[in-house]
Amino acid sequence: MVVIIFLCAVVLVCAVRTVVFGMKRRTFSADTLKAAALDPKDLERLRKLVRIKSVSHQNPEDRDLAEFRKIKGWITGEYPRLARTCELHFESPLCCYLIWKGSNPSLKPGLFCAHYDVVGTEGQRWTMDPFGGDLFDGYVWGRGTLDTKCTMAGMLCAAEALIGEGFVPERTLYFAFGGDEEQTGNEGAGTLSRIFEEKGLFFDYVLDEGSIVAKDMIPGMPAHIALIGIAEKGIAKFRLKTACTGGHAAHPPRVTAAGRLARALYRLERKKAPLGLTKEVRLFLEGLAPYGSLALRILFSNLWLFKPVILLFFSLKPKMAAVVRTTRSITVMRGSDKDNVLPQNAEAIINCRILPGDTVIRALETCRRVIKDRRVEVLADDPGSNFDPKRAGSLKYFKPLCAAVGAVFPYAPAVPHLVTATTDSKQYADISSEIYRFVPLVLDEEEVDRIHGSDERISLINYYRCIVFFKEALRSLS
Ligand SMILES: [Zn+2]
Repeated sequence: MVVIIFLCAVVLVCAVRTVVFGMKRRTFSADTLKAAALDPKDLERLRKLVRIKSVSHQNPEDRDLAEFRKIKGWITGEYPRLARTCELHFESPLCCYLIWKGSNPSLKPGLFCAHYDVVGTEGQRWTMDPFGGDLFDGYVWGRGTLDTKCTMAGMLCAAEALIGEGFVPERTLYFAFGGDEEQTGNEGAGTLSRIFEEKGLFFDYVLDEGSIVAKDMIPGMPAHIALIGIAEKGIAKFRLKTACTGGHAAHPPRVTAAGRLARALYRLERKKAPLGLTKEVRLFLEGLAPYGSLALRILFSNLWLFKPVILLFFSLKPKMAAVVRTTRSITVMRGSDKDNVLPQNAEAIINCRILPGDTVIRALETCRRVIKDRRVEVLADDPGSNFDPKRAGSLKYFKPLCAAVGAVFPYAPAVPHLVTATTDSKQYADISSEIYRFVPLVLDEEEVDRIHGSDERISLINYYRCIVFFKEALRSLS
């Protein structure tokens, strides 16, 4: 009898929660934006930016700083109203910022950021010149068109247009651009963050690149979902090192350095970090709940009951598993250079992406515990480029941001999202507690794969959406 009453109570709570979450469902309207409305001047601005070969290399000495210096001429030449209205600070070829003075100095400033460096194209086959900025088939082609020269050009086009309309922001707005995000971000956004800190600045919010409007990516959900990054996984590189007597390959010892390293790596891969549903992922699932099929609505409205099922489901696919666990990827391995010589030293790099709630130090200690071999040293590699995860703030600006998203994407529910990659915004975590990461583009899986891949290109309609979004965001967040 008690069991029946208990089961009835569980079913009742589930049903009530499902209905309550269902009531939060917003109604949507159709897409009205047309690429034909894109100003040809704005189009040229992006094409010119793509032609600047601001490529970040693994070895910083390989980059062509003369190309990075062209950013100054691009901003001052392409955005004359902005150049007249804002204070321009070109700190180095790798970073610059603009200050657009607001009418109310008592309000804390807001920060819009982007990066203008891009990854290289070595070993890739491209249909068009990756640095040609060609216009073909309704797309601007080239490296950085999606990541993230589109947002840099887009937010400046929006500001240029608003100045032309006589708009003055109430709060002071900063635009900050870094030129080394594809490496560590330390020389670009890191430098700017230190400058802002020395000036005693604290931003009411930061808006950087991050999540997108995902198209046909989440089964059982509407075709379009606007994912607004409210948190970001941490990043750390750990170096595993082990030494052993080397010598001739003809008479190896019982255990070699390479064998010991391989055993350590095997243990790390076999014993994965535990699954966990962070506050940020709960907000994501509960945000999706009103829009899902009945089965998903029941599941996502009742995480208190179905958490184990959801974690199991997420763990099945790598992209989803990355949202619910700290991941460890073995990326680099080194041993002997010669096929007949035993390595005296063997080493590997683990690229670790850390879930909010965990830390770099704890992830390092966990690796040591899992490897369980004192002869394998596990060290934080390049500690200056390791970052703890960044948790969600109070979400004070989530609503106004959703309003800007809704104005451009009235057909897409907007939900909070955990960004599994890293962005420059992590550099600003000490000078703002409200960081949002959003790229206002509709992208499907194929288009997402072109980021850092071959034939990266942006459709004209997506670029137009980007400009319209920033006009809305600059207005609603000022
Ligand atoms: Zn990027």
